[in-house]
Amino acid sequence: MSTSKSVLDWNILNIRDNIRSGDISAVEVCQARLDHIANHDHIYNAMTAVFQDEALEQAVAIDQLPSSQKSDRLLLGVPITIKDVICSRGQKTTAASRILKNFRPPYDATVVAHLKQAGAIIIGKTNCDEFAMGSSTEHSAYGTTKNPWDTERSPGGSSGGAAAAVAAQFAPVSIGTDTGGSIRQPAAFCGVVGLKPTYGRVSRYGLLAFASSFDQIGPLTNSVEDAALILQVLAGVDPADATSVAQPVPDYRATLKNDIRGTRIGVPRTMFDHADTSIDRDIIRAYDAALDIFTSAGAELVDITLPHATHAVPTYYLIAPAEASSNLARYDGVRYGLRASPNETANTENNLTAMYDRTRHRGFGSEVKRRIMLGTYALSAGYYDAYYGKAQQVRSLIRLDYDNVFAGDKNTAVDVVAMPTTPTAAFKLGEYAEDPLTMYLGDIFTVSANLTGLPAISIPAGLTNSQLPIGLQLTGRAFNEDFLLNLAHIYEQATPWHDSRPMLKT
Ligand code: GLN
Repeated sequence: MSTSKSVLDWNILNIRDNIRSGDISAVEVCQARLDHIANHDHIYNAMTAVFQDEALEQAVAIDQLPSSQKSDRLLLGVPITIKDVICSRGQKTTAASRILKNFRPPYDATVVAHLKQAGAIIIGKTNCDEFAMGSSTEHSAYGTTKNPWDTERSPGGSSGGAAAAVAAQFAPVSIGTDTGGSIRQPAAFCGVVGLKPTYGRVSRYGLLAFASSFDQIGPLTNSVEDAALILQVLAGVDPADATSVAQPVPDYRATLKNDIRGTRIGVPRTMFDHADTSIDRDIIRAYDAALDIFTSAGAELVDITLPHATHAVPTYYLIAPAEASSNLARYDGVRYGLRASPNETANTENNLTAMYDRTRHRGFGSEVKRRIMLGTYALSAGYYDAYYGKAQQVRSLIRLDYDNVFAGDKNTAVDVVAMPTTPTAAFKLGEYAEDPLTMYLGDIFTVSANLTGLPAISIPAGLTNSQLPIGLQLTGRAFNEDFLLNLAHIYEQATPWHDSRPMLKT
């Protein structure tokens, strides 16, 4: 099989099938992406590392496989980038933090091992907010990533480098992580597909933890079909992650073309009026247009209320920092990465506590420090019940809101909840530099899926008047990714948005 499109436009199946048939070599495919990155990443800064030599070595090995082995690798020769919070053996993994500047993990994350076994080639690591804390990729110790649609704007975050890398065709697939929206919001800002699987669907082993009860790993891609193929490889129980779940993994690609007639789509419009942040007109217009596409395909719209979901942002911003403050205690200058010496800071005392203090002072950036302080406060004796305890109760109420709309008989229950992914399109870099709270409020539509553990996907759903991408988010029942992907695919086939690409600068 061959196609007239540029090799940079090829999706997973184009790449795999052309390598299998011998129409192109894995080395040529890999080299094309590496050259493209070399020509453009000085502008976008989407990558924190490019593994040029190792990637080409792996490509050579793929080309030398006997054809019997080529035919059973689902992702044969597919170049992939991974977010810099996911461990890959011997390769720099920094969490975009100074504290892990030269850290090279001695093992592969389970997802990386799965990708390699499937024949994928890891070509580099993508930039993100430090320890995945942020919504703009401005909180990276290695510089800000720029949005390929407008370099004055943020690509979103925290997986901003991942979304920018897919939008700019550095790779057909980036692996991101989503704790409060970090796959879906950057996907929306960069006009790509982003899927956060159900909590427990994908192993977190080898992911540098931010908030362990929320974190999930998932794909960013140019199409829903590619997201389905990647989930196929990532999903499954893992003995190394006790929170991964032994649910059967369906054939995600096989279910993509199911008829969606009769699907009941929940529309939580009252939430838009009660959100603490205003929603742009362009976003509402695109949302309404998307709902029309679903009704034309035979789905039904059902008005629903999620009474507690308007409290999702404060709930998330208490629990996530609380978990982060505990998870990040391990960066102590003893076990990993940076250790600051007495002459590097004002604190010159020569004892263990002073060493911790110096190392964490120098190693962490301001947003990470803010989260550690917020989280430590919320967990402290005397405030625990009022903050952390209360937030956990509200978390349960939000989960019940979703249980209520998904439960019941087929005349009352909905199959999926549709919302915009974000209240605005990509904002200007620096716009919220002095106003983190407003940036947090922008997570209103994404954090509920993490508080509840439910799967959610963001798909390209239009452009604003100033030609910036808009995302539509679909949230489904637990472990119903196949259903979500099917619905998203039907939408994608009926609309032109996934084919829009930014004009790159050189
Ligand atoms: N924007 C959210 C935060 O800053 C989400 C981050 C994430 O999903 N990793 O916490």
